[in-house]
Amino acid sequence: MTDTTPQHRAQIDVTTWSDASSRAALDLVASSVAEMVGFEIAIISVVRGEVMYSVSVEGSNEAVQAMLGLATPVSMIESELARADDWGRFRFVPHDRLANDDHLAAFGWVPDLTPLDTADAWDPLDLLIAPLYGEDGDMIGLLSIDVPLSGRRPGRTQRHLLERYAAQAERTLRVAFERDALAERLRLAEVARRVVRFATTQDDLASVLHDCRAPLLEGFRSDYVAIRTYATGDLAPFGTSPTILDEVGAEAVRAMARRAWADERVVVHGDLVAPDPALSEEERAVCQEAITNGGLGSILLVPMGDTLACHGHVALGRKDPLLAWSPDEQRDALEVARDIAHAVVRLRTQERERRLVAELRRLATYRSQLLSTVSHELKNPLAAVLGYAEVLDTLLPEAGDGRRALGALARAATRLGGVVDDLLVLAEVEDPDSAAPTEPFDALPVVLGAIELTRITAARREVTVELTAPEGAVLVCCDAGDLDRVVTNLLSNAIKYSPAASTVSVVLAEHDDEVEVAVRDEGIGISAEDQERLFTEFFRSTNPAAVAEPGTGLGLTICRRIVERHGGRIEVDSTLGEGSTFRVLLPTPA
Ligand code: ADP
Repeated sequence: MTDTTPQHRAQIDVTTWSDASSRAALDLVASSVAEMVGFEIAIISVVRGEVMYSVSVEGSNEAVQAMLGLATPVSMIESELARADDWGRFRFVPHDRLANDDHLAAFGWVPDLTPLDTADAWDPLDLLIAPLYGEDGDMIGLLSIDVPLSGRRPGRTQRHLLERYAAQAERTLRVAFERDALAERLRLAEVARRVVRFATTQDDLASVLHDCRAPLLEGFRSDYVAIRTYATGDLAPFGTSPTILDEVGAEAVRAMARRAWADERVVVHGDLVAPDPALSEEERAVCQEAITNGGLGSILLVPMGDTLACHGHVALGRKDPLLAWSPDEQRDALEVARDIAHAVVRLRTQERERRLVAELRRLATYRSQLLSTVSHELKNPLAAVLGYAEVLDTLLPEAGDGRRALGALARAATRLGGVVDDLLVLAEVEDPDSAAPTEPFDALPVVLGAIELTRITAARREVTVELTAPEGAVLVCCDAGDLDRVVTNLLSNAIKYSPAASTVSVVLAEHDDEVEVAVRDEGIGISAEDQERLFTEFFRSTNPAAVAEPGTGLGLTICRRIVERHGGRIEVDSTLGEGSTFRVLLPTPA
């Protein structure tokens, strides 16, 4: 008792309780009971958590000053009630039966009154109180009266009247509590609404946390708020600053929050709050130091987690130690923190994706630079080899081993040159920094050009090339050189892998939002297994008929990269031994 007295004797500003009309209604009950039953003093107190404080005091100025807003621990009232005489709603504790020695400390004020010299005289230390109950049977308040004008303990008639006033006080208080509960629900629903809005619409964590502060402060009637996320993997901890809890002991706070998350509850610590049994001595000390440093009366530590993990915490603080965190507030705080946690997870996933994309881009750039550097380095010596081969060609005799060796050398160098050229093209189309131009242009001349370019090869192989195209221009969003490369590549392949006297059909067609360029042949076809790897670098078919033809295995990879970087796609449809159709689909200009 002694060590808690200074805090319990705190007097609060009663205007923080409920609303003005509820307070006025209670004032009316208090003044009526005093006037009608004949007492100088009538006090109505309300229960808030572990304490009860007087919100309406009828009586002398001195009494009002001493008693209004005065807090008393509920437990103290309960121990007095236990030894009281039962007068119906009212309980009477004669002065000689008081449980607490220090009556003044418990009830704040002893009237200056000389008892009459009669058996039923009222003693200044007599206690006449009516506990007021809510519908669920919990004590919600107390009506106490003191100093009877008659100087005597109340008789039958007075007691009867008192009974009615106690009932009225209880009704009035219940209504006030219901209004409060409703107002609280509205407040909390509003916090939830605003937090969800910020949590789902904001695109960076700093904004989410910043914007959630105001609704949390207002909705939870708090004077302090801090939101903190914990480090995970490669992502650093993040939060609003300053955080009084972290300053005292960040590790201890995380441990408390994680345990609370596992138990799906909050941690409450305050001057007038019963110690949380789930906390260790040190943890309580951390909370206590934090509220002292922050000039707060109590703090609510809310774990911020989803179903998988605790990602951080929200800490709310109130200066007024008497303003208890209601069960609804505690439950809703958990819900709101969960909404923020979802935002944290969403934004962290986005952040990871962003980093991954940047890393992949960096790797792609590096790969493309490597390809291009190596190819360039090969180009000069290769040109020298081919140049000297030409010189040797003029010097060597018409026939003989030397000329055969030279022929093999020249073929190998030419082939190597093909690989180097393809690698250079691949490096270029793979470079993420070289954006694909998307000026619209007519695809038909490009397709005709490609057919013209492969005309001699086709003729040599006795392959007929046909074209089906619409009248007029077919506009497409693709770089002309790129499209030429793709069509020439597909057409060369079709001719290369076709038997003599067969036909290769090229179709240029316009669909709703795509332009199609299809190359169909009646050649060797591609097995289903090979089709799966067809567009990967250096892939060459296992089909002996295909291996017999020269090639680098880079052509289709280049085609795919070009088509994709113009926002299009490439598809193949093929049956082994019957032929293949390669279809390129590119977006039409907007
Ligand atoms: P390259 O033709 O230089 O080897 P590509 O990337 O153009 O490289 O083709 C990869 C492989 O796909 C070829 O080696 C071949 O086995 C197969 N292929 C491509 N086009 C056809 C086609 N029209 N018919 C049959 N097989 C084909």
